[in-house]
Amino acid sequence: QSSSGKNQHVAVLAFPFSCHPWPLLNLTSRLASSAPDVSFSFLNTAKSNQKLSATSGAHLPHNLKFYDVADGVPEGHVLTPGNPLEEVELFLEAAPESFRKGMDMAVAETGQQKITCIMNDAFLVFGCDMAADMHVKWVPLYVPAPYDLSAHMYSALIHETYGGEAHGNGGAVGDLNPIDKTLDAIPGLSVMRFGDLPQEILDQGTHSNSSSIFARALRRIREVLPRANAVVMNSFQELNSTILTDDLKSKFQNILYVGFLTLTFPTPPLPPSHSDATGCLPWLDEQKPTSVAYISFGTAAAVPPHEFAALAEALEASCVPFLWSLRENFKAFLRNGFLERTRKQGKIVPWAPQAHVLSHKAVGVYVTHCGYNSVFESIVGEVPMICRPILGDNMMNGRMVEDVWEIGVRVEGGVFTKKGMVKSLELVLGHGQHGRRMREKIRDLKELVVKAAGPDGIASKDFKTLLELISQ
Ligand code: UDP
Repeated sequence: QSSSGKNQHVAVLAFPFSCHPWPLLNLTSRLASSAPDVSFSFLNTAKSNQKLSATSGAHLPHNLKFYDVADGVPEGHVLTPGNPLEEVELFLEAAPESFRKGMDMAVAETGQQKITCIMNDAFLVFGCDMAADMHVKWVPLYVPAPYDLSAHMYSALIHETYGGEAHGNGGAVGDLNPIDKTLDAIPGLSVMRFGDLPQEILDQGTHSNSSSIFARALRRIREVLPRANAVVMNSFQELNSTILTDDLKSKFQNILYVGFLTLTFPTPPLPPSHSDATGCLPWLDEQKPTSVAYISFGTAAAVPPHEFAALAEALEASCVPFLWSLRENFKAFLRNGFLERTRKQGKIVPWAPQAHVLSHKAVGVYVTHCGYNSVFESIVGEVPMICRPILGDNMMNGRMVEDVWEIGVRVEGGVFTKKGMVKSLELVLGHGQHGRRMREKIRDLKELVVKAAGPDGIASKDFKTLLELISQ
């Protein structure tokens, strides 16, 4: 435990969408527990703070306080259904002002303790200027995968090198479809294809004057992060290639890998306040080992309706028991009596204690959108994946899962069809060689993760460095 830290006050600014607030809160809670003399003010929208308090198992020490900040939605404004970006845009437009007010509130409530450090989600690129104006330290947390950060850092070079061809206005590329070109000119990204890049990066080539605030923010990542005192990664350095690690290191003043922030080893029991309200774990207790398909596409991604129908048909045809975490607004896509007919075969819940579910011995396959946190929860649970990547870094994660780590398969043709999905379920859950091999590979990878999370891992050292940085 650190003895320094008196008079230090860290303002933590959350990006209140998708999975982003959880890793940031978990990091804050770990830092606050280890530096009891430092004050931590966690600033987030009321809606996201409520969701965190209902779903996060994070321990909340006395020196960590929550503050609600404005969500930027004008009073009386009705958000357009089916346009999740609208909420992000409104929030980001107001965010610098909202957080400034939030910090004033935190300073007043802590007895005029001045902010000494801003720790924020790296998507909030304005944190850089804010910290500079306030003459305080700046420590952004990068939640997606390290290779995703690399793609952002090199987006200009990527478009220069591959973009012309991929956008159809460049030279000949032989028989290869431009989106299938490997990014071998970019350090550490040679396993990725141009088409694996996040949509926001692909769009930078075609509409680089996009008026979306979010798109502009992502474009600024490469400019601002090198100015950070340290960039914190939601990853274990040991899991990344040396080329990627060395290259990222050369770009920043300091880069600290503190491990996967949604994972703890071994998975602790669910805290009583977050009991499994939807009864997933007792339901799993009734199932045979390695028999269940767990399905979830994370907190933000949306699968097109016809694919939902195909996935449902495949589940029913295969008779595989399933546990499906499905947001309420998507349930309507499951038509024609599917819910009634499969009441015995499966269980559909609006929210599952996912890390615990994936560590349950009954789960044999995870049908996933390949969110970075989800992929590693699956690895720790030793559960191979059927991948249907959707947005952000999903495609790159899917590439790693299938081609590099060989611990999962992508759905045939990249989209759910009844036939392709039945085949994939059979492949992973069956007793064939392919399924066995994936299970072996995943056990090896888990061992690496457990070692990296241990006392001799880099995360333990980097966490201490971060602790010193914010406490002094
Ligand atoms: N999650 C959960 N229960 C659910 C759905 C998701 O606990 O029913 C958690 C999951 O464990 C993971 C996070 O939400 O930690 C999703 O993060 P990820 O990076 O996989 O995807 P995103 O939601 O950002 O697309």
